[in-house]
Amino acid sequence: MTTKRKSFDFKTYVEEIQTRPCFICEIIKGNPEYRHHVIYEDDIAIVFLNKYPSLYGYILVCPKEHREMVTGDFSPDEYLALQRVVYQMGEAVRKSVPTERVYILSLGSQQGNKHVHWHIAPLPPGVPFEDQQLAALSVNNGILDLTDDEMATMADQIRANIGGL
Ligand SMILES: [Zn+2]
Repeated sequence: MTTKRKSFDFKTYVEEIQTRPCFICEIIKGNPEYRHHVIYEDDIAIVFLNKYPSLYGYILVCPKEHREMVTGDFSPDEYLALQRVVYQMGEAVRKSVPTERVYILSLGSQQGNKHVHWHIAPLPPGVPFEDQQLAALSVNNGILDLTDDEMATMADQIRANIGGL
């Protein structure tokens, strides 16, 4: 497991997410410019590796439909159906990489990353508390320097650990 990091160009990233089409919808359409390592897909959700991982095993769970309010755009049943996928993926990640705690959160806003999604990021054991939580998720100290092959291996590992409910 690599811990080598590379710098993250936050300015370019912000420009991209605010000017390009919705990256999640483009992934779902199969646009090759938006290729990601997909781990799981069903009628309601798609799951893929975070392209800019601050932690090893960091994935995103997205509804297939473009919805923008994390709770308000879903009925309770629709929301819970997605949380079932979040649960399954949290367990798959936990079984795939050494994990002290699985972080789960939804970010984005109307200014960028509008399409609702959940981040699932495993905190490895042994990180000092002051470097945990938001500090562990931050890209300020760069992102993991993983090759495309290493990303593919990680995706395979997580996919292999997806269990039923
Ligand atoms: Zn979208």
